Amino acid sequence: MPAVDPHTPTQTARHIESTERHSAHNYAPLPVVVSRASGAWVEDVDGHRYLDMLSAYSALNFGHGHPEIVDTFVEQAKRLSLTSRAFHNDQFAPFCETITRFCGMDRVLPMNTGAEAVETAIKTARKWGYKVKGVADGKAEIIVCDGNFHGRTVTIVSFSDDDQYRDGFGPFTPGFKLVPYGDLAAFEAAITPNTVGFLVEPIQGEGGIVVPPEGYLKGCRDLCTKHRVLFMADEIQTGLGRTGRKFACDHEGVKPDVLILGKALGGGMMPVSAVLASDEVMGVFRPGDHGSTFGGNPLACAVASKALEILERDRLPERAARFGERFMDKLRGLTGGYVREVRGRGLLIGIALTPEAGPAKAWCKQLLHEGMLCKDTVESVMRIAPPLVIEEMDLDWAFERIARTLRGKRP
Ligand SMILES: *Cc1c(COP(=O)(O)O)cnc(C)c1O
Repeated sequence: MPAVDPHTPTQTARHIESTERHSAHNYAPLPVVVSRASGAWVEDVDGHRYLDMLSAYSALNFGHGHPEIVDTFVEQAKRLSLTSRAFHNDQFAPFCETITRFCGMDRVLPMNTGAEAVETAIKTARKWGYKVKGVADGKAEIIVCDGNFHGRTVTIVSFSDDDQYRDGFGPFTPGFKLVPYGDLAAFEAAITPNTVGFLVEPIQGEGGIVVPPEGYLKGCRDLCTKHRVLFMADEIQTGLGRTGRKFACDHEGVKPDVLILGKALGGGMMPVSAVLASDEVMGVFRPGDHGSTFGGNPLACAVASKALEILERDRLPERAARFGERFMDKLRGLTGGYVREVRGRGLLIGIALTPEAGPAKAWCKQLLHEGMLCKDTVESVMRIAPPLVIEEMDLDWAFERIARTLRGKRP
């Protein structure tokens, strides 16, 4: 694998220079310019190949260009792509049936991006609080966790505890309370008669692949039931097989009141997100209360239905559990040295580095030169999240590179 040096006059360098010149600098990508991909492998504009161990933050659970998803996409695009919800379309009902059965929920409200689905869940919980629970107008509170990541809209960054996400973007939306993640007593203490919802990631993804203590989710579920608070699981990153079960909440047998999905729901092909809930909760919406021009479009419905079908038929959650366990065992063999801890579930894995290792981003850059794509989350954690369709020999290949790199010199 030839090293990629953005300073030589390659196609890569030209693309990066132009990007720097013409785009907003709201990202700092690793220096690789991908131009084609298939399965777990991508190729850059200069013809180098890389193993994708990030999967677009779990949006590519099915890998790149899954043939059946591509066929569904192309055929549906030719037939009908968009009607808006002003009219019915023939892909909508089958999608709603498929996803509600898959999730064991009564009703679905489709949107496009993850952040929109989280916004939808917040609106749902507030309206349920006022119309059903009987909270006084304007008083609804939602409890969220330290280290959360739920998206980037103004309301969502209003309850982030990451200073950079908030800096310069106020004034913020009130009505949110932060509690430490994994602390049941703190959660119960924060509940008041005005609490309408508890919004939580069953494993914090952007927060550094943080798995809460065993029993936490179950305990929160019980407290929500006891105090009549909606348990709202943000499974945008953890859902749809990633952690070795359909949903990360399944590991503790927890059923949320409000389930938020995105990322992999679009089959790696397009943005598709959804909020699912019971009749009682979703019943608060009346025509005109909420919506989205592209939400529930036939192309999205066809692709998402196909994605769910493949997930179940090909037992991708089981595959993630089996491969993830083996891969994590091997990675744990690297602890000591620069590796402090290996944590995660299924194929959502964090390699937490020691302070001596320096920033995780430098190690990810090093792995890029080895032909592997991965990404830091918080400063000191490398996130490993390959497509669930990855071959085991490719995981072995990746392990060799990771082991060699982390046993080598600090970058
Ligand atoms: C990615 C992510 C989001 C936001 O999704 P977007 O599609 O980027 O808006 C929300 N919550 C979690 C847990 C995520 O990982």
